[in-house]
Amino acid sequence: MKNVQLYDKSFKLYLTYEEIQNAVDAVAQKINNDLKNEDAPIFLGVLTGSFMFFGDLMKRIDFPCEMCFIRLASYEGTSTTGSVKQMLGLTQSVRGRNVVVVEDIVDTGGTIMELDQILKDAGARSVRYSTLLIKPGNYKGSIKIDYPALSIPNDFIVGYGLDYDQIGRNLKDIYVLDVEETERRKGINIR
Ligand code: 5GP
Ligand code: MG
Repeated sequence: MKNVQLYDKSFKLYLTYEEIQNAVDAVAQKINNDLKNEDAPIFLGVLTGSFMFFGDLMKRIDFPCEMCFIRLASYEGTSTTGSVKQMLGLTQSVRGRNVVVVEDIVDTGGTIMELDQILKDAGARSVRYSTLLIKPGNYKGSIKIDYPALSIPNDFIVGYGLDYDQIGRNLKDIYVLDVEETERRKGINIR
C-alpha cells in the first residue's frame, strides 16, 4: 500500500516493513553485544506505540531477560500536549535492576525525561534507551539515546504501532503525513 487515509488526513509510504526490520536487526545486534554479560536486564516497553517494535526486537534478543510495560501519553492528534500522563504504572518492580527502555519514537524528549525520573524514583540500577525512531531536529532532552534504530525529519508519522488519534497502529509499514494531499481532499470536501 502506497497511500492511506486515516480520518481527515492522508499519508504516504515512508519506511517499508523490510527497512524497519533491517534497522531492528542492527539495534538488536548492538544490544546483544553490550548487554550479554549483565544479569537478566528488564526490557521496559512504553505502551502503546512501541508494541510492534518491542515484539520484533525481543525476538532477536539472545540472552535471558525480563519484560515489563508502562503506559504514558503525551500526544493528542498530531502534536504533543507538552505534559506526559502516566496511564498505567510499571507492571513490575525495577528496584536494583538494569533497565532497557523500548520506545516507539523520541520527539521532543519530554516522555523519556519523565520516564527517567519515574525509573530513578523506582530505584533502577541503570537505564538505557532504545527507540525505533528519533527526530533529532526536535529533541531537547539531556538523556543520551543509546540505541536509536532510525532518524527521521520532524514530520508526523503513523504505522508499525504509531497512531493518528488511535488508528493506524496496525499498518505494517510506516507512513508520513501528506500535507498536500490532505489539503487537496479538504478543498474538494472528501474524507
Ligand atoms: P516526546 O515526549 O518525545 O515529545 O514524544 C514522544 C511521544 O509522542 C512518542 O512516544 C509518541 O507516542 C508520540 N509521537 C511523537 N512523534 C510522533 C509521530 O510522528 N507520530 C506519532 N503517531 N506519534 C508521535
Ligand atoms: Mg511512545
